[in-house]
Amino acid sequence: MIEDEQIGSKVNWVEVRREPPELCIVVPCYNEEQVLRQTAAVLSGKVRSLVDTGEIKPSSAVLLVDDGSADGTWSIIEQLHDEDTGLFHGVKFSHNQGHQNAVYAGLMAAYDRGCDAAVSLDADLQDDPDAIDEMVRDYRDGNEIVFGVRNNRDTDSMFKRSTAEAFYTLMSWMGADIIPDHADYRLMSRTAIEALSRYTETNLFLRGIVPSLGFSTSEVFYKRGTRAAGESKYPVSKMLSFAMEGITSFSVKPLRIITMIGMLSIVVGIVMLVYTVVSVCSGNAVTGWGSLMVSMWLLGGLILVSLGVVGEYIGRIYLETKRRPRYIIERMV
Ligand code: UDP
Ligand code: MG
Repeated sequence: MIEDEQIGSKVNWVEVRREPPELCIVVPCYNEEQVLRQTAAVLSGKVRSLVDTGEIKPSSAVLLVDDGSADGTWSIIEQLHDEDTGLFHGVKFSHNQGHQNAVYAGLMAAYDRGCDAAVSLDADLQDDPDAIDEMVRDYRDGNEIVFGVRNNRDTDSMFKRSTAEAFYTLMSWMGADIIPDHADYRLMSRTAIEALSRYTETNLFLRGIVPSLGFSTSEVFYKRGTRAAGESKYPVSKMLSFAMEGITSFSVKPLRIITMIGMLSIVVGIVMLVYTVVSVCSGNAVTGWGSLMVSMWLLGGLILVSLGVVGEYIGRIYLETKRRPRYIIERMV
């Protein structure tokens, strides 16, 4: 933030940085007993070094959200809380609700604690915690959201890389403004979290919603490592349902595709009609073929277009039921 200070007729630009935030690091954990201790040690070191350099407040914390794990994750969280009551806090879901809900719950808990900013990152140390330094710096420079963007996909399998690319292309075509190679590693200020809390829909797709909030934002690049221990909690089935959620929660374009196919069918029907008329006039028409084909394509097209129209209304009802905020105010004077 820049403030101008009038000295005589000269204007001096004086940089005013934000106060060091009370930071909350939100970590979704699903069956992460193999890696959680290591992650906790790294994050505790990170918080300590940021407190020592005066970048964040000493009351900053790490919030571990247990997404209904079936292993010893929760008992590790309890132990961590006993060992360092001020630093480690935990929330436990009654059953597995998915990564997005775990992140969201963590952000809301951070807000309720009164934190000034929250960083969400994965429990497996794939999101390089060193990028938090830069995120905090960008926050203090006045950004409300700082996106962590990976600068390489070397640690991904060919399959994950190509499906991710296809997904990002499809999503941007569907009209969701998604940041390529940004997952859920990001810093959000209190103001941004408050704005997010006004999106009351239950099917959450944070990667689409957060960029759509607006605000002053920045990007921080980091090298994504391999999982420190344990296995991926995102099998292909979960990836597919995540992608479906992303598409359907952001766009009613698939409904519009029905109308387009219907119109195409009507065009084919008209071409067939012209062809039939020409063949009848030139005397080499096959009996019955023309009437069958023309009525099939025209009727098929009409049915599809009608379905598309009904779909348009359903799409509107769907978007209305989300009750998304009409606008978000960044600041007032
Ligand atoms: N996760 C979760 N709930 C789930 C699946 C995953 O909270 O149902 C968490 C998981 O513990 C990790 C993060 O989401 O902290 C990302 O999962 P993972 O590393 O397994 O995904 P990948 O990196 O393989 O895409
Ligand atoms: Mg991972």
